[in-house]
Amino acid sequence: MTHTDSHTDVTAPLLQVSGLKVHFPLRPGLFGKPAAMVKAVDGVDFTVHRGETLGLVGESGCGKSTTGLAVLRMTPLTEGRIVFDGEDISHPDAATTKRLRRKMQMVYQDPFGALNPRMRVLDIIGEPLRVHRLTRTRAEYRERVMDLLDRVGLKAEMADRYPHEFSGGQRQRIGIARALAADPSLIICDEPVSALDVSIQAQVINLLEDLQRDLGLTYLFVAHDLAVVRHLCHRIVVMYLGRVVEVADRERLYQAPRHPYTQALLGAIPIADPDPEVQARFNPSVDGEVPSPIDPPPGCPFHPRCPHATDLCRREAPRPIDVEDGHSVACHLHDPSRAAEMNHSEPSYQEQARNIA
Ligand code: SF4
Repeated sequence: MTHTDSHTDVTAPLLQVSGLKVHFPLRPGLFGKPAAMVKAVDGVDFTVHRGETLGLVGESGCGKSTTGLAVLRMTPLTEGRIVFDGEDISHPDAATTKRLRRKMQMVYQDPFGALNPRMRVLDIIGEPLRVHRLTRTRAEYRERVMDLLDRVGLKAEMADRYPHEFSGGQRQRIGIARALAADPSLIICDEPVSALDVSIQAQVINLLEDLQRDLGLTYLFVAHDLAVVRHLCHRIVVMYLGRVVEVADRERLYQAPRHPYTQALLGAIPIADPDPEVQARFNPSVDGEVPSPIDPPPGCPFHPRCPHATDLCRREAPRPIDVEDGHSVACHLHDPSRAAEMNHSEPSYQEQARNIA
């Protein structure tokens, strides 16, 4: 294990995830043998650069939250490698785990369940300061918590209140303040606004943006809501059934999504050509739900729902193809070497995207 604390290359990515697999037994069967394995994450690669917000997006059951837990090293890896700040943390020892608990923090989806109802806000926010012994005196501790309250837009006198005295948006601010307390390098935001009223969501998103700008934070933002991701994220990784299907920066993903699943997720794509036939072809809707990760379909995992599926899709999983710099898609439609087997008479997505760009 190589740790490069004092010689960190600030141009290197903060986080690199390669070939990540997280499989776990559904329940013990006879004689304690697992009855079935859940392939929650099944070969995922992505990189998070310093100071950026990377969105991890997909429907419920696509493996995005498990990926976040794996990065936090809160669930064991079945396969793969995670490098954080120059250090391989795939199999951390106790000392590394303790350091990671400080450098990586999480903001949870449920601001009601995430805060201990019997603790005052002072001690909720200050918990990481105590655990990691980051302040020396009670006065310093209190002062630091006051600073954190101020950073997230809450008043100093709120420190002595209990969580039930706050609204949902205020509780999420408390959760964010606690995540900031230990001065982390990476914050994993797991659907942090999906439990909040729409009117409050924008305020919390704006706060996260302000904090990123002021403190140079890096976020891994897990979401199913593409509207939120569009506003906040610099790049987006779309996941489906434990795999990455498309990676692109925000503009490209919204203007020219290539994977049929991304297109379906995006719903109404603003395109220049108002012809409904073109729009329907470019932006097909899909029916059904994500199949079970216990018994994923063979070939392309999206094929049971994909309007373009062929025999090749049912037989063979697509590999990621770089369609342009920084934009990759795992779909046979975009693999020039499989064009003959896809045998589509319609214009390809590449052609459609070019035509409407
Ligand atoms: Fe659809 Fe085939 Fe592409 Fe999978 S590989 S998304 S089934 S066209």
